[in-house]
Amino acid sequence: MTAKINHWCVICGTGYHGCDSCDAVGIHSWKKHTDTLNHYQIYFIINDYTYGILNKKQAREKLYHCDLTGWEHFLPNVRVLIAEILT
Ligand SMILES: [Zn+2]
Repeated sequence: MTAKINHWCVICGTGYHGCDSCDAVGIHSWKKHTDTLNHYQIYFIINDYTYGILNKKQAREKLYHCDLTGWEHFLPNVRVLIAEILT
C-alpha cells in the first residue's frame, strides 16, 4: 500500500504522507508542517525571525546548525527569508 500524500512541506513544498490521527494527539507534531525534522527546525527559526523573537544574527547562527541543502529550491517565500537572514 502506498501512503497517500496529504501534506505538503511548508519549507520545500514536497508532498508527503502525514498521519492525521497522530497530528491530533501530537505525536511527531512536526509532521503536520514539514516532511523532515530538519525542515521543521528551519521553519521554527524562520517563524521566530518573522515574529521578531530572533534577530537576524541569532537566526543566522541557528540556521548554520541546520542542513540547508537545496534551499535554493525551497518555496519562494522561504527562500526570500533565508536569503535575507544569510546576508
Ligand atoms: Zn521539506
